[in-house]
Amino acid sequence: MAIHLGCIADDFTGATDLANTLVKQGMRAVQMIGVPDATIDVCDAEAVVVALKSRTIPADEAVGMSLKALAWLRQNDAQQIFFKYCSTFDSTYEGNIGPVGDALLQALGADVTVVCPAFPAAGRSVFNGYLFVGDQLLSDSSMKDHPLTPMRDSSLIRLLEAQSTHRAGLVAHDVVERGAGAIAERMRALHEDGHRYAVVDAIADDNLVAIGEACDGLALVTGGSGVAMGLPANFRRHGALGAARAARLPSAKGGRAVLAGSCSVATRGQLAHVSSRWPSFRLDPLKMAEGLDVADEARSWAKTAGEELPVVIFSSDSPSAISEIQDRLGRAEAGAMVERTFGRIAEGLVREGVRQLIVAGGETSGAVVEALGIQALEIGTEIDPGVPWTTTLGSPNLALALKSGNFGAEDFFSKAFAMLDG
Ligand code: ADP
Repeated sequence: MAIHLGCIADDFTGATDLANTLVKQGMRAVQMIGVPDATIDVCDAEAVVVALKSRTIPADEAVGMSLKALAWLRQNDAQQIFFKYCSTFDSTYEGNIGPVGDALLQALGADVTVVCPAFPAAGRSVFNGYLFVGDQLLSDSSMKDHPLTPMRDSSLIRLLEAQSTHRAGLVAHDVVERGAGAIAERMRALHEDGHRYAVVDAIADDNLVAIGEACDGLALVTGGSGVAMGLPANFRRHGALGAARAARLPSAKGGRAVLAGSCSVATRGQLAHVSSRWPSFRLDPLKMAEGLDVADEARSWAKTAGEELPVVIFSSDSPSAISEIQDRLGRAEAGAMVERTFGRIAEGLVREGVRQLIVAGGETSGAVVEALGIQALEIGTEIDPGVPWTTTLGSPNLALALKSGNFGAEDFFSKAFAMLDG
């Protein structure tokens, strides 16, 4: 069976969020960890999301990786390609959304594509081409202090044009309100006027559905997971989808752990929520920098921390504490060092019998999944908007929740494990 929608996501939690959106719209979705090798069987998947870890790597590497993913998806007959990035447009000064978008446009011979990171359910909306997080502009939100991708501008047109060789124009909210036909017409007009990117306003799910419909037949769609909400309906209208399957909860049983490398406000609130109830261990990056084996220390602690309750291991800290370590080591180096430590801790925990694992942080999730050698995930029941439980396919068999830093309610961790008790 051919894949209908082939997706390339620039980080792991983003990929899960996207696959989750497609599953909720009745599409059978499988998430691949990294560019799949030729032998992987996608069975009856109608959408495949290839999860890359390409958000903050050098732009040329991100482009190369994304083109490899594209080649695999096209070999498997993907009819439409979706390039997924974060709903807060997380990018470095060099990219990587623009360079990857440009390369995909060229490889697919596509005229024009949409740019829409909006995800109103999680408070991300686009209006007049500006990205908002809740009631704040992106550049006023906590994203201005992100450890790897500080966002200091909120204009999507400016951000994209700085990263791309093409021009970007606006499909404003009044056009979006007029529906799919009006959006498609405005996109055609933008293309005729020399634009290859159409930044589309969206402040409500209805807008995303209309944008999705306007994308019917486009070779390339780009955006956050929200804009994928409207895509399955196009395939359904064309009679291409099978009967929808209900999402399932994972069945893996064993120890429980939370690994949090996200320093986002939401994750820090979620950690505070459980800190007085569950055994918690703080990873100290300064000790890592001194060459101490912090991973080993954390693994030994986890062994004695009690069988009954989930163990929580976190490096999350305030922006000022993060700046201090970044000033000493460099931004990317500090992040990579902490991520490596989480990878080693995850290996140890799984060896000791942890089978139900929550990871907070996109980059952190990428590092953990890589260290555990996980190749593919079946997307299960949603915990909070954008974050489902998943079951790993193959070995090790785990219940895994990969949470993008800013996602989830304050009680996310306890709610997630309580779902598995049922
Ligand atoms: P989010 O989803 O919130 O963006 P990520 O895991 O993607 O979270 O990014 C957080 C980054 O910050 C990771 O690279 C992580 O290793 C790094 N990090 C975590 N804790 C610290 C810390 N205490 N000091 C410096 N960097 C840290």
